[in-house]
Amino acid sequence: MTWLDSLAEKALARELPTRADALNVLKSPDDELMDVVAAAFKVRLRYFGRRVKLNYLVNIKSGLCPEDCFYCSQRRGSAADVLKYTWLKPTEVLESAEAGVRAGAKRVCLVASGRGPTNADITRVSTAITEFKAKNPDIEVYSYQDRADTVKTAKQAGLSPCSGLIAGMGESDEELADVVFALRELDPDSVPVNFLIPFEGTPLGGEWNLTPQRCLRILAMVRFICPDAEVRLAGGREIHLRSLQPLALHIVNSIFLGDYLTSEGQPGGRDLEMIADAGFTVEGTDERTLPGHRPAYRDLVRLRRRGPGTTLPANA
Ligand code: SF4
Repeated sequence: MTWLDSLAEKALARELPTRADALNVLKSPDDELMDVVAAAFKVRLRYFGRRVKLNYLVNIKSGLCPEDCFYCSQRRGSAADVLKYTWLKPTEVLESAEAGVRAGAKRVCLVASGRGPTNADITRVSTAITEFKAKNPDIEVYSYQDRADTVKTAKQAGLSPCSGLIAGMGESDEELADVVFALRELDPDSVPVNFLIPFEGTPLGGEWNLTPQRCLRILAMVRFICPDAEVRLAGGREIHLRSLQPLALHIVNSIFLGDYLTSEGQPGGRDLEMIADAGFTVEGTDERTLPGHRPAYRDLVRLRRRGPGTTLPANA
């Protein structure tokens, strides 16, 4: 049995790999790249079959952020020439979300620049979310932030939390492995993996550190550490994986469709072709994403956003 076979076996048993295992994946030579992908594919196949979940981003408030996260094109004082607008109107949110659903998305993520929504911010978008959910009851709608306590709170509230990473910021293999082990501690349902988009006008504008091969190794490491979580290939896949994107589908089970928050992605039609050409299928709204052993209750609880305390009629 090779070291990759035993790593795959561990992941299939949902055993945590060692830090040395994770580093071996990141440091593996190009000659072993296909073996790394094949080992990760065994795990992906067991928990997610050949399904690819499609997610769609709607940037409901772009740029103008009071924070200054150094990697971000929307940060305070950013010189990146990105679209800047305050909160979209509910009708605009609805139109954008529905465009994603028409293109095949199963999950719509509503994202607003800033560290955390205020109650007023939540009220602002809740009307649009309620209307959208009424029309598309099987579509998942999420807004998310990046803090660990949010992940824990979301879980306690019965929501499906996601928490991920951005690779390619000049980090070491050790730092990358530590981040993914820390994510595993949080046990999120989904782990979005972003590859840094080096926007001109941001401090990391010159950081082109990734190769397609390194991206595949990073994704494989995440799969081995979080074997039964939805590993979602997020921003930067087109520019960093380039022609190796279809290989990544053998590791991840979820991608974003269409454009990102402030940059353009591959046309949705090309994503659908790529999925079909690689022998995968788009996950339907009636198909469960997570494997059966993960708690299902998170999918069932819907927070009330109508009736008493709201401006919307009750459901009776
Ligand atoms: S939009 Fe988010 S990541 Fe970007 S600067 Fe603001 S808080 Fe940071």
